[in-house]
Amino acid sequence: MNNGKLLAAGLPGLVLALISPAALPATELEQSIERDIPRLYDLFLHLHAHPELSMQEHRTAERLATELEAEGYRVTRGIGGTGLVAELHNGDGPMLLVRADMDALPVEEKTGLAYASTVRQMNADGLEVPVMHACAHDLHMTSLVGVARQMVAAREHWRGRLVLLGQPAEEMLGGAKAMVRDGLYARIGRPDFALALHGIPKYPAGKVVVNEGLVYSSADTVRIVVRGIATHGASPHLGRDPVVIGSQIVLALQPIVTREISPLEPALVTVGSFRAGAAPNVITDQAVLDITVRANTESTRVQLLAAIERVAVNTARAAGMPETHLPEVIVRPTGSPTTTNDATLARRVRNAIAAGMGSDALLPWFQSDMGAEDFPDLVALDPPIPYVYFEVGVTPPERLADGSWAETHSTLFRIEPEPSIRTAVHAMTLAALELLAPD
Ligand SMILES: [Zn+2]
Ligand SMILES: [Zn+2]
Repeated sequence: MNNGKLLAAGLPGLVLALISPAALPATELEQSIERDIPRLYDLFLHLHAHPELSMQEHRTAERLATELEAEGYRVTRGIGGTGLVAELHNGDGPMLLVRADMDALPVEEKTGLAYASTVRQMNADGLEVPVMHACAHDLHMTSLVGVARQMVAAREHWRGRLVLLGQPAEEMLGGAKAMVRDGLYARIGRPDFALALHGIPKYPAGKVVVNEGLVYSSADTVRIVVRGIATHGASPHLGRDPVVIGSQIVLALQPIVTREISPLEPALVTVGSFRAGAAPNVITDQAVLDITVRANTESTRVQLLAAIERVAVNTARAAGMPETHLPEVIVRPTGSPTTTNDATLARRVRNAIAAGMGSDALLPWFQSDMGAEDFPDLVALDPPIPYVYFEVGVTPPERLADGSWAETHSTLFRIEPEPSIRTAVHAMTLAALELLAPD
């Protein structure tokens, strides 16, 4: 960080002051955030009570756009569906992208909170479903607005271009790709760095976690269409039963993780859906398996996907299916790679957060599941934009201690709004000021 020191020039008696601005004093930023908390709290309550499903974030995006325009940002709407960018130019310097995701989940809120969602919406299949911000995206948007205000207030202390981005459909792992495909970077140019955060219930509110490497696993969706030969349920010998072949495939997939991948390497294959048949006395001609595949490295990801295809095809061969009727294994294009921070950039961000919030605000990263993100798809330029994705705790310590907390995507998921908003805004503003600090 530059402190705007004075430089003595070589000429005697002549002292030149650097025109670089001074760093923002820590207490000034803290007080400025504190003054904004009541407004941000109201915004959070509004967003929480009005969740919208993936790719239907119309009112949410409009609210976010309006909030950012009110702070003087130039907003472009409707990128990749409901996506938006809000730009602030502040002299010559690097370009920083800060992303918040906007979508909610088809989950029925059962927290009993006064501001709980009662919203129901039509999903993409035309079914009416309950909707809830069960993944803290309401916090992410609220803190984006908070950061927008702090960066305007602190514009004497940074230089460059700040681009705040509202992304649709993170939960479908498709919104980031949709924005890129819709010409996001043709509109804004190539950012030098990118930042994003997620509210995480396993960490206490007030704490920040910045890892110098892996943050989330890769995620791929694989569909196996198992073909059979239809026949009467009482004459199985005259056909080939895709329910039995599909069941064998489900079991044959399990040893991929336990016998093929190193026991020291995390890997996951979950068959989440198995659909076949309509009547007990009919052997149908098709079964469909939908699978999620997770890995922590690209090589394990490739190995898992290849093994799934091999197991599916050869299980059908072993059941006597002809070569013309082997299963079709489709890897969906919605897959996302691992979320892995640029180590050097992560160190800079962590040091800036430690300097501004105290080193006890930081906790070590640990992995407790194989969750994934589509943020890497947003920054997947050639070469990729270096990024830091960090986590902020959202649960009061006493709830962590007595176990009365719920994971994201749960009907009972809840965040402690004030300390979570305060910490998210504070940490993200410190990170942005660090990356846009003048030379
Ligand atoms: Zn989620
Ligand atoms: Zn999320």
